[in-house]
Amino acid sequence: MAKSEPARRISDLLRLPAGSVDLQAIDTLATPGFSGAGKGDATTEVCHLRPRLADMQEQLYAEGRTGGQRSVLLVLQGMDTAGKGGTVKHVLGLMDPMGLQYQAFKQPTIEEREHHFLWRVKRRLPPPGIIGVFDRSHYEDVVVVRVHELVPPEVCSSRYGIINRFEGKLVASGTRVVKCFLHISKEEQRKRLIARLDDPTKHWKYNPGDVDERACWDEYQQAYSDAFTKCNTEAAPWYAVPADRKWYRNWAVTKILSEQLEEMALAWPCSQGWDRGKEHARLAAGQ
Ligand code: AMP
Ligand code: MG
Repeated sequence: MAKSEPARRISDLLRLPAGSVDLQAIDTLATPGFSGAGKGDATTEVCHLRPRLADMQEQLYAEGRTGGQRSVLLVLQGMDTAGKGGTVKHVLGLMDPMGLQYQAFKQPTIEEREHHFLWRVKRRLPPPGIIGVFDRSHYEDVVVVRVHELVPPEVCSSRYGIINRFEGKLVASGTRVVKCFLHISKEEQRKRLIARLDDPTKHWKYNPGDVDERACWDEYQQAYSDAFTKCNTEAAPWYAVPADRKWYRNWAVTKILSEQLEEMALAWPCSQGWDRGKEHARLAAGQ
């Protein structure tokens, strides 16, 4: 009897392969690994994942409270309107805020600019037990910085190796690094910018500067492709999430996160320095 193929992990399907990456070759509308009918099925599946995700998150938190050193860092990158905020809302909205640490990285402040580019990042890494989320990250320092030539090219090229060494040490110290690129097409970005213009509840998100950045679309795709070619290590891999369909993006990031937490083989920590029988006896004795 033919053995049925084991279901492929979404992490494996979306993991960028080692070697040269060409983002243009990746279909932003695709839905790899999703076998349902569409948005409704994806939302239902995410709801079903929620209890297990919550348990694993609590186990990680409990581990951190009882001497464990492990944490998770989810890095989100993407062009403007790719849905970093939406992913935070939908995926992390499934989890307990107590165990989450969210950090957005904007243009560096004057103080940040006086330091090494990793300085601000290192200060905001998740402590043990915590799932940290970076909404943009140190990858801006090899993407926007390169597109706008904010530092000399040789400084920018030297950063790939610096990033790999930094992430390697981070992983060795117990942080699981999960890097997701939310990949949208230029046409989808145009639609989303127009939607922001046409909806007063989205005006706060509209930034005319995004249209200026859009003019550099190809340069951004190239800078991202190069960053993924050079910084897609075994220790800290990149996942390219097709993100033209928001429901697929949310489903896929939820699946990747669940799979990564499963791989950590989390468990409930044992009692710490107390004996269950003795404690029962003390409570029974009216203490
Ligand atoms: P947003 O996330 O849309 O609110 O925008 C934040 C802006 O800060 C984006 O245009 C980023 O490219 C920019 N940014 C983030 N990090 C850096 C950096 N290290 N150097 C220059 N610009 C950055
Ligand atoms: Mg923006």
